[in-house]
Amino acid sequence: MSQKRIDELTEQLKDYAYHYYVLDTPKISDPEYDQLLRELQELEKGFPEWKHEDSPTERVGGEPLEQFRKVSHDVPMLSLSNAFNGEELLDFDRRVRDGLGYAPAYICELKIDGLAVTLKYEKGRFVLGATRGDGETGEDITHNLRTIPSIPLKLQEPVTMEVRGEAFMPKRSFERLNKKKTEREEAPFANPRNAAAGSLRQLDPKIAADRHLDIFIYSLGRMPEEELNSHHEALRYVKKLGFKTNKETKAFDTIEEVITYCEGWLEKRTDLPYEIDGIVVKVDNLSDQEKLGFTAKSPRWATAYKFPAEEVVTRLKAIELNV
Ligand code: NAD
Repeated sequence: MSQKRIDELTEQLKDYAYHYYVLDTPKISDPEYDQLLRELQELEKGFPEWKHEDSPTERVGGEPLEQFRKVSHDVPMLSLSNAFNGEELLDFDRRVRDGLGYAPAYICELKIDGLAVTLKYEKGRFVLGATRGDGETGEDITHNLRTIPSIPLKLQEPVTMEVRGEAFMPKRSFERLNKKKTEREEAPFANPRNAAAGSLRQLDPKIAADRHLDIFIYSLGRMPEEELNSHHEALRYVKKLGFKTNKETKAFDTIEEVITYCEGWLEKRTDLPYEIDGIVVKVDNLSDQEKLGFTAKSPRWATAYKFPAEEVVTRLKAIELNV
């Protein structure tokens, strides 16, 4: 029975991932996908002998599209582990403290629901931009990324470096685009994430230019010469160079404060002009990050707190108000 379920979930999730990552047309919602993936993870833990070698639980993203030049990432672009509630954030904190032997400071960032990209600069000039792809190999989409006004083509300093961030479509651009699509009797995009991914994975840069995309930078790929000790210093540094960073990023000393911050966004997120699907919690100190290292798929020093589906939030609110 369990083996049959593992086989079934593996096939199903592979198909969903293909539609989401490669075709940009998801067949199910993200919380539904996450729930099925969690079920598969649990089954694989109980019955490792039935786990498939190419299981979706071990893979990052999807294959790069053939029509783009392939870019192999010097530093892999990984995924994130997930925490679906406060209890699971406490588990994450426990693992981190066990690994370090002490409690670290955390940085919380909004988890923008867009497309991870990497941007390379040589002597301060933007030379290459690529998608995450399968984590090892992405697609060269430099021509499209150049059309995003918040991506500097020339930095404030002539540094050679790589930054990573989330390219996204603001809610207003998404509504405008889908209205236009409906008027033209074309199929609308399912959500801003897929619209952003669909816009950036086009051969003609005029399409991306017309879609009003934006970006927030959230990490460094290759380290610059500059001496940096923490993630918050890295963010300050990239901002000084001319990149756009997110102003809601906050530092906390305890996991309890992190949980309060994460849960605070459950409702507030609807007021943002862009979509987020959670909060990314990162250990701030870079040598602590190094000590904790990575699994095959994600860093051990970060996790993504994922919001429940909108209907669940509404239901919880109704219970709270006793209506
Ligand atoms: P993830 O979305 O859980 O986390 C990793 C990604 O978070 C990074 O690649 C980056 O793009 C993004 N991110 C946003 N803000 C960030 C920040 N501040 N710092 C670091 N990273 C940040 O992982 P994933 O590997 O992209 O995979 C899964 C996601 O895709 C899930 O949300 C899942 O529901 C969705 N998905 C949905 C379907 C579907 O059919 N609906 C199929 C496959 C995957």
